[in-house]
Order: sequence, then structure tokens, then C-alpha cells
Amino acid sequence: MANTIQGIRGMNDVLPQDSQRWLHVESVFRDWGRAYGYKQIRMPVIEPTGLFVRGVGEHTDIVEKEMYSFEDSLNGEKLTLRPEGTAGCVRACIEHGLLYNQTQRLWYIGPMFRHERPQKGRYRQFHQLGIEAFGFDGPDVDAEQILMLADLWRRLGLTGLQLELNSLGNAEERAAHRVALIAYLEQFQDILDADGKRRLYTNPLRVLDTKNPALQQMAEGAPRLADYLGEESRRHFAGVQALLDAAGIAYRLNDRLVRGLDYYNRTVFEWTTDQLGAQATVAAGGRYDGLVEQLGGKPCPAVGFAIGIERLLLLLEAQAVALPEALPDVYLVHQGEAAAKAAFLLARELRESGLDVILHAGGGSFKSQFKKADASGARHAVVIGDEEVAAGTVNLKSLRDGEQGQQQSVNVSELRAVLAGN
Ligand code: ATP
Ligand code: MG
Repeated sequence: MANTIQGIRGMNDVLPQDSQRWLHVESVFRDWGRAYGYKQIRMPVIEPTGLFVRGVGEHTDIVEKEMYSFEDSLNGEKLTLRPEGTAGCVRACIEHGLLYNQTQRLWYIGPMFRHERPQKGRYRQFHQLGIEAFGFDGPDVDAEQILMLADLWRRLGLTGLQLELNSLGNAEERAAHRVALIAYLEQFQDILDADGKRRLYTNPLRVLDTKNPALQQMAEGAPRLADYLGEESRRHFAGVQALLDAAGIAYRLNDRLVRGLDYYNRTVFEWTTDQLGAQATVAAGGRYDGLVEQLGGKPCPAVGFAIGIERLLLLLEAQAVALPEALPDVYLVHQGEAAAKAAFLLARELRESGLDVILHAGGGSFKSQFKKADASGARHAVVIGDEEVAAGTVNLKSLRDGEQGQQQSVNVSELRAVLAGN
């Protein structure tokens, strides 16, 4: 036999025993998005590389080292497998005039690609649910998106997620803070690690977002962005907090929360869990009022977030949240040529009446067919042999615990009603 070909490291297959969870969260997403007036948008998974360089930021981890970029071998275009959804969503909105004199509330779902070291909760192909609102500049939409996530945890049956909140102010406030921060960090040139040195002048805020214990004390004493926020930024942030307080949503203010993407301003937030080790952030987002203009559109305020679906699924598993049942109603057992045909037609009829039916295929004894019926998890086995065909009946057998073995002969014309009564 020839060697088998393996999938790519960090890119996972979702197997049938797990896909039920995916379908479940996707169906919850759909109802939830609708409940808040969000409509779906679908973008391609490949975009021009320049979109992310401009949109995510040249000096971010994503653009510096995590993107899957390549040249189109036919025309030499520089392309990238999208590492996140916001830049493509903004591109699509500008391209199709969706932001012209109107507001938008949008959601999307799909795979994202980042060349990271694969580990639990961190993959090279992963999936995000993204939410973006365009054209709203008040704190109400920021607060509503945070509330949406609190509501999503409730809808999914998750508990214990923690909310962290910060404000990054506006561009001028960040620039003033940046000058002070660089001056402060320059005093520590000799203790900065390689990442820190590299980012000192390109992305000094990220120097503070260090996991290196040797640098944490330095980070503690750094000038705080909160002290550089002007009146309007403060008022906006206070507005967000007032609404969260009114809704009884608890949060922790964290002035180290800076997010890994350049485009954020004002409100930023993360929902984290202590149940997934280092991959603690399940959802993250904030305001990005400058991005639309930066990508060539007319200035347009925006706020959004993304949920890491794999992490959400891991958390559902960690909290042993039960899934809605998705087992078949009927497993149809049959033997003999006439019975096979009758079963084929009966299965169609039952499905048309709204039941989920597995029609046995592949022959075999009644005994082996019953084994499969049991394994399928179906509520009932419906059995047809040549005798039943002749009599216009079926044998109805209960397969669920407690009712097992109960068997009755039912007229085909009454089967639907009998099954509905069960
Ligand atoms: P992290 O700090 O964990 O690397 P991030 O700040 O890079 O996350 P975002 O770009 O904000 O993440 O993406 C939003 C969410 O997408 C994250 O909070 C996380 O749940 C999920 N996510 C990001 N990268 C990955 C990945 N490589 N594998 C799985 N999920 C991911
Ligand atoms: Mg990351």
C-alpha cells in the first residue's frame, strides 16, 4: 500500500462524533445574531496581502510572523489566507457601498489561518464568529456587544467567564502616551528581551504585554494610558461602564489590556476563562473607529469582536454542558425483497411526516440489524418482513431504556399516529 497522506499540522478535521457540537453552537449563533438585529456577511478566505498589512498593522505578531502568504502562480498577485475577519469585512463593506449613509450590524463565521505553534486551544486553522457594527459612535453599541456575549454564555449554558475592560483612548491620546512610554522604556534598554527591543519603537504598548517575569516590574511602573485619556474618551468609557453596571454585568478594569491588533481605539474587552490553561481568551474585541478610513473608506465608527469557536467548544466540554439530542426517531429493519421495497417507501413517507429515519442498508440477519438499530440510538425499530408486507402491518419495537422489548403489531396506516403518540 502506498504511504498515506497526513493533514497539515495544526489544521484539524472535525469528525462525526464532534460535529454535533459545532452544529449546535452554529444554530445558537444564528438565533442570537438575529435577536440583536445582526445580519450575516460572507467573505472569501483569501484576500490581498496588503489588506492585512494595512488593516491589522505591519508591526503586529499576526503580520510579522503568523500569516500564510503566497504568490498566485498565475498572475503573481500577493495573497494571504485571512488571519482574522475584520479587515476583510471592512473591505467588503467599502467595496459594496454598505457604509454609505447607513449603519450596519453584521456577523460572519469561518476559518482563519495563523502560523502559530499548535497546542490545546491554539491551531493554525481555527474558526471565529465575528460581529461588527458600523456607523455607531456612542458607548451604547459597545455595551450592547459586551452584553450580547454575556447573553451568549447564558444561551449556551456556560458559566464562570470573566470580563476584562480597558479604554485605549483616541489616536492623539495614544500618541502622547507613546512618547512618554518610549522615554520610560528606553531606560530599560539593557534588560529588554529581543521582542521588547524590537517593539520599543514600533509597538511599545506591546512591550508591556509581556509574559516575561523579569520585565513585569518594569511594566508595572510604566506611564499609564488611562492618565492620558481626554474628556471625550473618559466620557465614552464611563458610558460603557454605566450601561454594564445597569445590566449587572461584572467586569475588571485592566489597563494592560491592549489587544494584538493595531486598529483598536477607545473600548477594548476580553472574555476569559481559567479552564483552558494559557489559551484563556474566548472572545475579544473593541472599537476601531479609524479602520474604515485607513482602508480607503469615508470615516466611519466601528465596533466588533470575535469568538474563538474551538475554545468555546473546549469550554463547553470542560463544563460538561449537555447537547440537545440529535438521535433518529426510527431505525427501519427489513428482510426479503418485497419488504425491502416496502421499507424504502415507508421510510420516505415517515420522513415526509417529519421523522428522522435510518433505513437499514446492506442486508444481514434480523439479529445483526437490531444491533445496528440499538447502536444508532433510535427511539424505535420498525420491523418489516414478508409476512408484514402481506398483512399491511409493521412490528414496532421500543429501543429506549425502560421500554425495551415492548413490541406491537401496527397497521401501516396507523404507524404515524402511534409514533406521534409515543
Ligand atoms: P491569543 O492572545 O490567544 O493569541 P489573539 O489576541 O491573537 O489571541 P484575536 O486576534 O483577538 O486573538 O482573535 C479572537 C479570538 O480568536 C481569540 O480570543 C481566540 O479565542 C481565538 N483565536 C485566536 N487565535 C487562535 C488560534 N491560533 N487558535 C484558536 N483560536 C484562536
Ligand atoms: Mg494571537
